[in-house]
Amino acid sequence: MPELPEVETIKNELVPHIIGRRIRGVTLFWDGMVKETSATEFCARLKGQRIGGLRRRGKYLIFSLSGGGLLIVHLKMSGSLLLGRDSSEPPQYTRAVIHLDNGLNIFFRDPRKFGRMRLAGDGDRVISRLGPEPLEEGFGAGGLAERLTRRKAPIKAALIDQAVIAGIGNMYADEALFAAGIHPLRPACSLVKAELKRLHRAIKQVLLEAINDKGASVSSYFRPGGEKGSAHFQFRVAHRRGQDCLVCGTPLERLVIRNRGSYFCPKCQS
Ligand SMILES: [Zn+2]
Repeated sequence: MPELPEVETIKNELVPHIIGRRIRGVTLFWDGMVKETSATEFCARLKGQRIGGLRRRGKYLIFSLSGGGLLIVHLKMSGSLLLGRDSSEPPQYTRAVIHLDNGLNIFFRDPRKFGRMRLAGDGDRVISRLGPEPLEEGFGAGGLAERLTRRKAPIKAALIDQAVIAGIGNMYADEALFAAGIHPLRPACSLVKAELKRLHRAIKQVLLEAINDKGASVSSYFRPGGEKGSAHFQFRVAHRRGQDCLVCGTPLERLVIRNRGSYFCPKCQS
């Protein structure tokens, strides 16, 4: 699933091509990806609007529209936004096409059909419930400590809870916990100050490195130009099922936490 680094990469790489462009129209190949409004109303309301901005919040992409509203996109399990010429054939599994006035299209490709789009206004209730952005200046070790201190849930579960911190999912939670030497089942509230500092540093580091590598293409993630990211080549535990720890050689273990497979080293993480 695309997480913060993947969504950030998509945002960064879409921006030069779409800002200031007018939406000529929207084609839906699968109406089920539009939430809250009918498919017809969704397409009608987007038509003719100019894209004034694009930002990321957590794992959401938020397009600001000239009419004052927002188009909010969540890629969920397998979504990608691909850029292509209007004259080109939509890629396989394209569920929606946003046609722009510069001859480019945004193709919403989504093999598993969990991705969603909806129109919203400022102060959207889903966006406003998200926790802080881990890469923002204001997010310090103290802030992380505050958000974890009353949580008895396993630290892994707390890290992927979007109300605690926005944007971290299964892969980067595993990577950050490994880098910080913390066992994924530790109750969040049991972390001592030194561990919280290590975890805070690890979160920033793994996310920044992954953005630098343009995200991780472990399953169906593609960058807008169709290229893959290379962040997964740096993974030390995530998706390394059946392999040994790169630091100590111990076989990595897998646990299911909140229905997600969690990978960790039983020796390096305690
Ligand atoms: Zn190890």
